Amino acid sequence: MRAQIVTFGCQMNEYDTHSIQSELAGLGYSFVDDYHEADLVVVNTCAVRGKPVEKAQTLLGELRKEKQRRGGLTIGLIGCLAQLPEGQRLGKKFGVDIMLGPGAITKIVPAIERGRFQSFEFERELNFYTPPPPTGAVTAHLTIMRGCNHRCTYCIVPATRGPEVSRPAEDIIKEARALKDAGVVEVTLLGQNVNSYGLEPGTGARRAHLDGYPSFADLLRMVGRVGIPRVRFLTSHPINFDDEIIQAIADTPAVCRFIHLPVQSGSDRVLKRMAREYNREYYLDRIKRIRELLPDTTISTDIIAGFPGETDEDFEETLKLYREVQYDAAYMFIYSAREGTPAAVHFEDVPRQVKVERLTRLVNMSKEVTHLRNQRWVGRTVEVLIKGPAEEGFCQGHTRGNHVTVVEGSLEAGIHHVEVTHATPNRLYGRPTPI
Ligand code: SAM
Ligand code: SF4
Repeated sequence: MRAQIVTFGCQMNEYDTHSIQSELAGLGYSFVDDYHEADLVVVNTCAVRGKPVEKAQTLLGELRKEKQRRGGLTIGLIGCLAQLPEGQRLGKKFGVDIMLGPGAITKIVPAIERGRFQSFEFERELNFYTPPPPTGAVTAHLTIMRGCNHRCTYCIVPATRGPEVSRPAEDIIKEARALKDAGVVEVTLLGQNVNSYGLEPGTGARRAHLDGYPSFADLLRMVGRVGIPRVRFLTSHPINFDDEIIQAIADTPAVCRFIHLPVQSGSDRVLKRMAREYNREYYLDRIKRIRELLPDTTISTDIIAGFPGETDEDFEETLKLYREVQYDAAYMFIYSAREGTPAAVHFEDVPRQVKVERLTRLVNMSKEVTHLRNQRWVGRTVEVLIKGPAEEGFCQGHTRGNHVTVVEGSLEAGIHHVEVTHATPNRLYGRPTPI
């Protein structure tokens, strides 16, 4: 039996795909990259913006044709899109056999055994597979929680992934140890808002800890002691990114000085309409604390251009904030209205052309800033985790600050010291150097 798993979306989906792959291997499946050769195709989907939904839809159309042509093909639609009415309509239209929401992927084995199956449950207890460590990989993901309790007005995630549930710390540490024993050198702890790990239900900055759970700051220290040389985490929410977490990063040598702190907008008016729970001043205070306690930290962000009602002045505030923070990197998006979210229901969209113009300005400015930020590494020695070859005569990896780095020679996978010789907006370049 042969299966193909196609993954759209974020690192959490990649982690889920890895879990599902292990379960399918246990059922005797081998894996192919072409659906023409597959008996089963599982499409693991993202619904955060319109684009990934369109991609899934195109693929489902092709799969339906393939199934009509030869029969004997089982189609699975899982993940965020499957959870939504939009996905369930597509499932019906394209003759999908198995539909599982993100909280129900542990049902993949019974689903395949039955052939036709659907589940969209969210269990209160975090019931999910602990996947075996990846073979031969130097980097790995580790999910520490699921769901989100925030209600950002543009975001579909609370509807697709349900409320926050934290995974017990002993399970996380056990999985981290297994990754270390398998030779993993860098682990990324995953969650929609990892800073809320182990907190009572709700939102806001002052939630109590759940009985028996450490705080995220303490969890970082615990994972830091496992012995994996690099520990990262994604994603943080500014409202929960407190001084204790900054201190834990400072105290724990394994934790990389790389912080992804999405701001979304630099305008207080827009932040309010987005229901982000902080304002510009609060956000800038967090950045100030990071820079004070963690010198040389790489800071990246997410920004949405053209949120409904965003004026030229609001957008200028975002550009101003970007320059003030001097981000090392950013993921920048055009606002995409998602069915059923408060922003899509209550606010009027900005014309597409305006959104595109704003995004273009933002991207151009971010390139300038990143180029400048990257220059400060030239002449310094950095630690690079080499993952594999690049163009002829070079290999490639990334620094503790997550800068993609191209290095002369063909070093084996693992950590090396590299002298940075020059920098572009996208890359650092260097040569190996003894410590
Ligand atoms: N939980 C994280 C957070 O709060 O930043 C990330 C969640 S989301 C999967 C990743 C990013 O997608 C968000 O930070 C936001 O910038 C972007 N995003 C979410 N919904 C969007 C929408 N409707 N249109 C455009 N971008 C969106
Ligand atoms: Fe979406 Fe906001 Fe939750 Fe992030 S914090 S997943 S943007 S609702």
